[in-house]
Amino acid sequence: MDYIFPPLPVQSVPVLGEARRFPLRRIFCVGRNYADHIREMGFRPEREPPFFFTKPIDALVQDGEEVAYPPLTENFHHEAELVIAIGKAGAGIAVEDALDHVYGYAVGNDLTRRDLQFALRDRGRPWDWSKAFDRSAVVGPITPMPSQALPRSARLSLTVNGETRQDAALDTMIWNVAEVIAALSSSVTIQPGDLVFTGTPAGVGPLQPGDRCAVAIDGLTPITTLIGRKA
Ligand code: MN
Repeated sequence: MDYIFPPLPVQSVPVLGEARRFPLRRIFCVGRNYADHIREMGFRPEREPPFFFTKPIDALVQDGEEVAYPPLTENFHHEAELVIAIGKAGAGIAVEDALDHVYGYAVGNDLTRRDLQFALRDRGRPWDWSKAFDRSAVVGPITPMPSQALPRSARLSLTVNGETRQDAALDTMIWNVAEVIAALSSSVTIQPGDLVFTGTPAGVGPLQPGDRCAVAIDGLTPITTLIGRKA
C-alpha cells in the first residue's frame, strides 16, 4: 500500500518484564468516578451510570517526557488515574466476566484544560477541547495482570514538586474496574489495545511551567511528567 503521506506510526506503551510493547487502539476515560472529586467539581455524587469521553491515541505521552504548557488555557490541571489495558475484545460484557478482558494496568495522568472544560460544560458543549488536546494522555508502563483486579488496599497518589496533591484508596472508586468495563462495553465493542482511564479522586489542581508531576499506584510503575514552557 502506498500513501500520499506517511500514516500515523503505531502508538504503544512498554510492558513490564516484556521486550514487546502494548500497541494502542483507543483511549477512553471515565468522567466522574470518585465522590470527593465530584463534590470539588461542584456536583453531588450520585451513582448514575459512568459516562465516557475519549482522547486521540496520538495524545499519548510516555513516562519521563516533558509536556509543553498547552495553548488555550490558564488553568492546566493534573488528574491522577488508574488506567486499564484491555487485552480481549467484547461487547455487552457482564460485570462478573469483565476482568477476563483485562490485560494489565498502568498509572496515568489525564491532563485537562480546566478553564475550557468549565466553559464548555456551562454551554452544554462537548468536552473535547478541554480533554482531547495534543499530549494530554500520560500513560506509564503496563504491568501485566491478566484477568486480575488490583488489591483493594492499593492507593493512588500524585505529587507536584514533591508535595502531595492527590491521595486516595482505589476502592473509593464509585464504579470499580469490572463495572467500568461492563458499562463501556454496553456502548462500544472494546478491543485489545484499548486503554481506559478510570477517573480521578479529589485534589486536582494547576500545573505550571517547570513543575515535576509524579503519579504512583501501589504495585504499578510510577510516572513522572515535566511541564515545559508554553508551546
Ligand atoms: Mn479524568
